[in-house]
Amino acid sequence: MTTEEILKQVAEQTAVCTKCDLQYSRKKSVPGAGNPQAEILFIGEGPGFHENVQGLPFVGAAGQFLDELLADAGLKREEVFITNVVKCRPPGNRDPQVEELEACKPYLERQIAAINPDVIVTLGRYSMGHFIHNGKISGIHGKPFWSGGRMIVPMYHPAAALHQPSLREVVKQDFARLPEMIARAQETRRNNPGLAALNHPVEEENGVEDNGAEQLSLF
Ligand code: URA
Ligand code: SF4
Repeated sequence: MTTEEILKQVAEQTAVCTKCDLQYSRKKSVPGAGNPQAEILFIGEGPGFHENVQGLPFVGAAGQFLDELLADAGLKREEVFITNVVKCRPPGNRDPQVEELEACKPYLERQIAAINPDVIVTLGRYSMGHFIHNGKISGIHGKPFWSGGRMIVPMYHPAAALHQPSLREVVKQDFARLPEMIARAQETRRNNPGLAALNHPVEEENGVEDNGAEQLSLF
């Protein structure tokens, strides 16, 4: 399957998914949006009120701030991909629960494998928790580490920075360093072909595996 086909399949599946209780607060699922060939993938927490209505990620107040942060990094929304750890809205914007995160994980993993970005930016602790356990955001924000053959950069959630003015400058400075991080990640991946090969195989619904050869051929 092509990247586009996998992303479309995830969108169709999440729209009618019944794997966790968030199905009951869903108006529209928010599978994510952006460039399927993005070099950088942003992962937030979950849809809020406006996202649930529109079916698109980060369209509310936090989204406006995210656009500003992307501009600080010289990035446009159309060139990146943005998704969330849970694709349906937690009622009243409560935190996603462990069972919900677990249930939704395969969708995120398929998206990551299909897009195969050089850099993943985690926005907030649930997204960071997908890659690192017991990470403390105050200590590791803006500091890249490697996982699954790509660079992961933990960041504060834009909504947290909106509500805590002291974090605003911190998150803006972290975003401003993203061009440098992308360049470093790409260079490291170019020089270490084994890293790109760590991209997890994409599991097909019928159990047949797509080994990502299509993405690899792009390198
Ligand atoms: N906050 C998130 O984490 N994700 C969204 O899509 C919107 C707000
Ligand atoms: Fe399915 Fe994820 Fe929505 Fe839960 S949050 S119903 S696992 S798509």
